[in-house]
Amino acid sequence: MNSTGGLTARFWGVRGSIAAPGPDTVRYGGNTPCIEMRAAGRLLIFDAGTGIRLLGLSLKSCDALDMDLFLTHTHFDHITGLPFFAPIFDPRHRIRLWSGHLPTHHGLEAVLRDMMKAPLFPVPPTVFRATVEFRDFHCGTSWQVAPDITIRTGRLNHPDGACGYRVEFGGHSICLITDTEHLPGRRDPAVVELARGADIMIYDSTYTDEEYQRHVGWGHSTWQEACRVADAAGVGRVVIFHHAPEHDDAFLDAVAAAADFVRPGTLVAREGMVLTA
Ligand SMILES: [Zn+2]
Ligand SMILES: [Zn+2]
Repeated sequence: MNSTGGLTARFWGVRGSIAAPGPDTVRYGGNTPCIEMRAAGRLLIFDAGTGIRLLGLSLKSCDALDMDLFLTHTHFDHITGLPFFAPIFDPRHRIRLWSGHLPTHHGLEAVLRDMMKAPLFPVPPTVFRATVEFRDFHCGTSWQVAPDITIRTGRLNHPDGACGYRVEFGGHSICLITDTEHLPGRRDPAVVELARGADIMIYDSTYTDEEYQRHVGWGHSTWQEACRVADAAGVGRVVIFHHAPEHDDAFLDAVAAAADFVRPGTLVAREGMVLTA
């Protein structure tokens, strides 16, 4: 993984809603969202779906890691991997957990306690051995996570709320915009603003436009809308993400071909894919 120059993203989980392993999803992958980004030697993780378990294994030989884990929101598909992320059980590591969609009276630490609780889960978050810090923030704010790395955030249109992220480093930027539902017939101004001029935009493409007609109000968007947002915001490359569990490899191959025709250079996210902004 590039750790000096550039801003890179590696995909460990690209599936939405629920993990979908099996012979028909083996090429794009069945794990739920987790993206590893690297800038200036820093480790930034986005979402803790089932893909984060594999990221944890890849970090096994690292000692004294200092990392930031940003959650788009706390629906199960984005957090169930956290108790299976090996570094969180290692006292040498420090992990800051960020979330921007929760009310102040019931922040991320409380939500995690609710999830890791009998009879849903056998052990509470107190079993974590790394130094874990909970950093709740108001979605829409921006800050520097390191002197040369800026994090911008924007509110998304999703049941229970969700927060989009934009990472800027060395004049480059990558956006993660999931989970979100678009506004029929017009672009969501908050999404366009967050994505404006980004080199790479990773976008909630759970449905096709045709499928979306049967899922209005479910909180997700389409790959065609990803292309429309990208055109409106002057985005470089679109990455289709948060694949529906029923979209198998053959279906996603067809989406890849259609999307590349509509907007050349568009990619369908797959596990193991690495991109540099
Ligand atoms: Zn999701
Ligand atoms: Zn969600």
